[in-house]
Amino acid sequence: MMRALDIAVAGCGPGGLAAALLLHRDGHRVTMFERFDAPRPIGSGLMLQPTGLAVLHRLGLRDAAVGCGARIDRLVGQAGMRTVLDVRYAALGSGAHFGVGIHRAALFGVLHEAVGAAGITVETSRTITASTERGGKRWLGFEGGAEAGPFDLVVDMLGSRTPLTADTGRDLAYGALWATLDWPEDGPFDVHALQQRYRAASVMAGVLPVGTVPGSGAAKAAFFWSLRADRLAGWRTAGLEAWKADAAALWPETAPLLAQIGDAGQLTFARYAHCTLARPAARGLIHLGDAWHSASPQLGQGANMALLDAWALALALRREGDPDAAIMRAVALRRRHVRLYQWLTALFTPVYQSDSRVLPFVRDRLVGPLSKLWPATRIQAAMVGGLVGNPLGPLELAA
Ligand SMILES: Cc1cc2nc3c(=O)[nH]c(=O)nc-3n(C[C@H](O)[C@H](O)[C@H](O)COP(=O)(O)OP(=O)(O)OC[C@H]3O[C@@H](n4cnc5c(N)ncnc54)[C@H](O)[C@@H]3O)c2cc1C
Repeated sequence: MMRALDIAVAGCGPGGLAAALLLHRDGHRVTMFERFDAPRPIGSGLMLQPTGLAVLHRLGLRDAAVGCGARIDRLVGQAGMRTVLDVRYAALGSGAHFGVGIHRAALFGVLHEAVGAAGITVETSRTITASTERGGKRWLGFEGGAEAGPFDLVVDMLGSRTPLTADTGRDLAYGALWATLDWPEDGPFDVHALQQRYRAASVMAGVLPVGTVPGSGAAKAAFFWSLRADRLAGWRTAGLEAWKADAAALWPETAPLLAQIGDAGQLTFARYAHCTLARPAARGLIHLGDAWHSASPQLGQGANMALLDAWALALALRREGDPDAAIMRAVALRRRHVRLYQWLTALFTPVYQSDSRVLPFVRDRLVGPLSKLWPATRIQAAMVGGLVGNPLGPLELAA
């Protein structure tokens, strides 16, 4: 067991909050820094996978997350009359596997409450601009010129646009409009499924049950509609009614959701970036979560990977006597799975979000039908569950 370290965790996203909790519980002196005074969720919902749930379980927060989310047993996608995606967690061979649709604010609430209960200091309204190393210690620099430190270790969990590395990813052409709406209780959606509709690859609409949001007992749905970023201005100019007519034509069952949208301001546009740092660690500094590896949410892994990264760092610090040896070990524990999923996400994103005509043609007529046959069913479920490449074994976690 290593000595207690002074650790700065930069960023109060799911990864930062989990890292702070784990490191605090291991006896380190942890301070968190966040630019906002309150959470500002981008997008409305996300999916927790068996990987992320395994970390939440070890944090003692799995039941709380499952309790405010919605259990997801199946992902199903249709293009016209064809079912081209049908992934069931049950194909993993055990009823114990499922995903959880959860609102970002709810996941934040669960983790943030635990951070508060642990007495971890969170400095809000602190916009980080830099991290410097002096005399073997790390400092954080803030907007306005102030500094905090010295720290033995800075954990960068500032997300995909972290200012703590010069490497920037590439913005993807497509992003999506997201809204949180009331769950239509009288149907027609399955409360245990993520459902999607596609028009070629240029439009992907989805409905994800996300359970409840803090302060309300009513069940919610995250509704999303993919859009090329350079078409956002045109979408605004065309007006809400034109878009609603298009959405209703693609997916008539969304009528009870569309009826709740009376203002374009209810839809938030989230643009995606893709970046994987080749060197996610420097002396006394480690980049984890989206700061290390950001991607489109096509495979729904980002928050889960951030949770796995946090766990890997805590585990490595328990095993290594020196912080720099520990961060190298943490990177080694995660690198293979990170590379694999970054590659898989880059591979699959254009199949669902691009201007290609060939990819969706092949998807609908060849890959869709083949994917319903064993062992493709199991491989797909493992891929969606984040379990390809055995990420949990080296981390001593169990799904
Ligand atoms: C629309 C959308 C849908 C998604 N769906 C899924 C999904 O289904 N499943 C899934 O697993 N993932 C999903 N993701 C990805 C997931 O949200 C991210 O991978 C995850 O949030 C990364 O967590 P993180 O803690 O690394 O970073 P973030 O969640 O990005 O948190 C970073 C934190 O740092 C703070 N911060 C940033 N810059 C500064 C600064 N300069 N100074 C101080 N504070 C700063 C931010 O305010 C934020 O609180 C989705 C993402 C989007 C955009």
